[in-house]
Amino acid sequence: MAHIPIRTCIACNSKKDKKELIRVTNNEKQENNKKLGRGAYICHSIECLEKAYKLKKIDEKNYERLKGIIIDK
Ligand SMILES: [Zn+2]
Repeated sequence: MAHIPIRTCIACNSKKDKKELIRVTNNEKQENNKKLGRGAYICHSIECLEKAYKLKKIDEKNYERLKGIIIDK
């Protein structure tokens, strides 16, 4: 059996298969990398996205970008 990488959602803290989460990258703002850490992940849900944004875990650019990805699916 292959090892399944588990990641934690930055909004709801639930642990999920990496494939079920969206990677949050932030290449444009170096400061935010500290907040996010390396390779932050979020659920494929608008609720978690809103929550992460309210908690300032993601910036506006990521919020808009991820919203586009989530709504698109
Ligand atoms: Zn979540």
